[in-house]
Amino acid sequence: MSDCIFCKIIKKEIPAKIIYEDDKVIAFEDINPQAPVHLLVVPRKHIPTILDLTSEDNQLIGHIYLTANNLAKNKGISVSGFRTVFNCNKDAGQAVYHIHLHILGGRRMAWPPG
Ligand code: AMP
Ligand code: ZN
Repeated sequence: MSDCIFCKIIKKEIPAKIIYEDDKVIAFEDINPQAPVHLLVVPRKHIPTILDLTSEDNQLIGHIYLTANNLAKNKGISVSGFRTVFNCNKDAGQAVYHIHLHILGGRRMAWPPG
């Protein structure tokens, strides 16, 4: 999608602090971090919301979570704990309509979320 900010990061048209990429996903630091570690794992495929996932994306979703697993270990937040979040649509505060898994860690987080 030409007007999608995450597609532009994937195509290297705009900069980001990329910390991992492979043929299916890219991971980079959130520009407005909400925790000492705040990363986004983004599929290269443009999928607007998790409601748009189909059975074709089963492996992709598994790969996104395995990537989060590895990144949490590499960033040293796996033992202390971390949160993974896919926001979906307005009430969840989704701002970028290209799915992305937030990884948040490095501080104690409240539950329920605000
Ligand atoms: P969401 O509200 O779940 O759609 O989350 C969108 C996230 O993308 C927010 O946490 C933003 O801070 C982050 N974000 C937006 N633009 C950029 C960018 N250019 N580089 C890195 N993170 C971004
Ligand atoms: Zn996109």
